[in-house]
Amino acid sequence: MTKQPNSILLTIRKLMVGFLLRCPNCEHGAMFTGLFNMNPVCPHCGVRFERLSGESVGGMFINLGLAEVLSLGGFFISQLLLKPPILAQVIFWVSFNILFVVFFYRHSRAMWVAIAYLANGLYTDEEYAEKTGQR
Ligand SMILES: [Zn+2]
Repeated sequence: MTKQPNSILLTIRKLMVGFLLRCPNCEHGAMFTGLFNMNPVCPHCGVRFERLSGESVGGMFINLGLAEVLSLGGFFISQLLLKPPILAQVIFWVSFNILFVVFFYRHSRAMWVAIAYLANGLYTDEEYAEKTGQR
């Protein structure tokens, strides 16, 4: 698995590929088969998306962090510009937060896999066995 030298354009491209739920290694394989079901390996090139069980925590961090930034930012901006009733604000932004976390789940996990790719952390099972000497 040879990779072009890291650059800001490569980073943006791979994050976008992840956002579009495609394998960051080959850019063809689908990462998800359903709303919440991630393929363990790429159906096109065979890299394992998450090797250890806790690797999806990074995706959760992206998801929850972005949800909070958007909710709080949206709350304060709409409060400054429109001054809606506070109860309507809270109901709207809490609902937005919940829906955002659900619908951004796959994208945040896939973007975390893209970050793992950019950090040279994606391998096929054979490459991983060679790298760790488990043959
Ligand atoms: Zn692939």
